[in-house]
Amino acid sequence: MTKYRRPPYPYCPWCARPLPKEKPFRQECSSCGFVLYHNSSPCIGALPTDEVGRVLLGRRAVEPYRGDWNAIGGFLQYGEDPFEGLEREVREELGVACEVDEFITMEADTYGSDGPALLNAYFTVRLGSGTIRPQDDISELRWFSLDALPENIAFESDRKALQVLSHKTERSGGGGEET
Ligand SMILES: [Zn+2]
Repeated sequence: MTKYRRPPYPYCPWCARPLPKEKPFRQECSSCGFVLYHNSSPCIGALPTDEVGRVLLGRRAVEPYRGDWNAIGGFLQYGEDPFEGLEREVREELGVACEVDEFITMEADTYGSDGPALLNAYFTVRLGSGTIRPQDDISELRWFSLDALPENIAFESDRKALQVLSHKTERSGGGGEET
């Protein structure tokens, strides 16, 4: 994987003149006036839950963290509605529709240990009918009890989101007790 080049950027994307670097995340071009803002990339994370309180995770087929378990989801596209993005990601990775259930948390992270900054909003979802199959950048799918999550979870933001989900589930007394 090519090493991620962190801002400040060297040249204006419009007029190609050198950019000032005093403010690395807000670079104003002195030639054409364009302001290059650097922000965390918005991501959306889906946490499908079932009637016994388990959560569905996908195993990453790609770097970074290839082989580790990961919340379903990914980067939002430019200007995309976040809920449409969530449904798109679920459909791309699982092959089924979903219904958004509840906001869980929002976490800052990076894409890989030295990658670009991201901001991931997590929601529980109810999956629609149909057989789920791992697709896109996912090699395997598995339902996990919240008290028996795998050790190798890919992202710090995913680990935090699963913690928040576990606490919410404990407080509401739901999950895992039915026969
Ligand atoms: Zn410029």
